[in-house]
Amino acid sequence: MTHVAIIGGGPGGYEAALVARRSGADVTLIDRDGLGGSTVLTDCVPSKTLIATSDLLTEVGTSAELGVEIPSTPRADLASVNARVLRLAQAQSRDIEDRLRSAGVEIVKGTGRIDAPGTVVAATDEGERVVAADSILLATGAHPRVSPDAQPDGERILTWEQVYGLDEIPEHLIVVGSGVTGAEFASAYNGLGAQVTLVSSRDRVLPGEDPDAANLIENVFTRRGMTVMGNSRMASVNRDGERVVVTLTDGRTVEGSHCLLALGSIPNTADLGLDAVGVETDDGGFIAVDKVSRTSVPGIYAAGDCTGVLMLASVAAQQGRIAMAHLLGDAVNPLSRLKVSSNIFTSPEIATVGLSQRQIEERGLVVDATILPLASNPRAKMQGVHDGFVKLFARQGIGTLVGGVVVGPRASELIHPVSVAVSAQLTADHIAEAFTVYPSMSGSVAEAARRLHRLV
Ligand SMILES: Cc1cc2nc3c(=O)[nH]c(=O)nc-3n(C[C@H](O)[C@H](O)[C@H](O)COP(=O)(O)OP(=O)(O)OC[C@H]3O[C@@H](n4cnc5c(N)ncnc54)[C@H](O)[C@@H]3O)c2cc1C
Repeated sequence: MTHVAIIGGGPGGYEAALVARRSGADVTLIDRDGLGGSTVLTDCVPSKTLIATSDLLTEVGTSAELGVEIPSTPRADLASVNARVLRLAQAQSRDIEDRLRSAGVEIVKGTGRIDAPGTVVAATDEGERVVAADSILLATGAHPRVSPDAQPDGERILTWEQVYGLDEIPEHLIVVGSGVTGAEFASAYNGLGAQVTLVSSRDRVLPGEDPDAANLIENVFTRRGMTVMGNSRMASVNRDGERVVVTLTDGRTVEGSHCLLALGSIPNTADLGLDAVGVETDDGGFIAVDKVSRTSVPGIYAAGDCTGVLMLASVAAQQGRIAMAHLLGDAVNPLSRLKVSSNIFTSPEIATVGLSQRQIEERGLVVDATILPLASNPRAKMQGVHDGFVKLFARQGIGTLVGGVVVGPRASELIHPVSVAVSAQLTADHIAEAFTVYPSMSGSVAEAARRLHRLV
């Protein structure tokens, strides 16, 4: 029987463990911080649970338009919100552990490293445990980047892993970094009622995202009272009693009650023994893998954030599954980055799939594009939704959908038909011809597709 040793119990590791067990392998999974990994314990699950509360408050804030008077201003009790967040995360971690155990995965609590090809050593509370394996999967994730001039203190200068210790809504939160994580937290705390300043080193928020979506969200942010500081690079963050001071490289300062650092992630690969066996990494320490999750060393696979391919829980899980299918001789569909759908959980949400506008331009593809504001959708009017759009890209001539962006409430759900189309290489006509419910937000996805129809 094939024996697989997996280091890391996030989605990259635990999904692989389940697939490997189903294929009849023996699996030992080593994890140091808790099953579910950062995804469940500190990153994805906690942040989306916090955002659920913020979204509720944001929605309640629009009640007057729908004729509902709320006698007093609703407010979140952050201590209760965060207690719920942490409870939910722990419960999910336990569920995953139960699933793994009942599937027959051996779980070792400890810190793993590769000792030699085919040998993993786990440092546990009971001492060292040596695991001999036919194959190894590395799925150790990543941790928040901090800077020597911006050291978190866990009280007022915080990483995204530390915010759930807050008992009260920050009076003035300065979020440094306007990528996905920074934008999501800025949006969430704005919705929770905090004064928020978002410090962005680029000229706009979400610099890597669709420009129409990024412009829309920046407008919404400022309309809701957030201060967005573009072209503002952080030099240092310091604590001054009950205040924090963010100093910018041009000498300006911003003062607030708390600062959240959203400066990106560093892979957990430093002490994994990679050099000893020759596993290649890039300059940032990310493990180099191919589309079936193989590293440079035969028998060693890697999945998830430690590879830096696309830092998403869904991609980590898929890379882990693909690795095990490849190892254990099952049918393998190599990872296609062009089919990945993802979502930014701001309010409104921004969901994307397939090629972005920039990638289309870089590749010189000739496409028809359409952008349809949600404000024209009957359901949106009924629900008082004003911000959002559906944008689709289809290959000119053949009409195949190659990418799409949906901005709006629950865009994460609305992107799915576009994702199916991109994945199955369907045309805009296929989407347009499928019935949608009247009235529904998904009607706008079909209508946008209809606008891409060309007479034959
Ligand atoms: C704030 C935030 C919100 C996010 N929201 C989303 C989202 O909504 N949707 C989405 O798809 N993605 C989201 N992500 C990204 C997602 O969290 C990551 O892509 C995902 O966690 C990667 O999974 P992983 O399995 O690679 O690693 P992880 O989930 O980080 O798990 C790695 C595990 O390995 C363990 N480990 C590390 N080193 C060792 C070692 N030497 N020995 C033993 N164990 C070790 C760690 O303790 C951890 O348990 C978010 C990220 C952040 C920061």
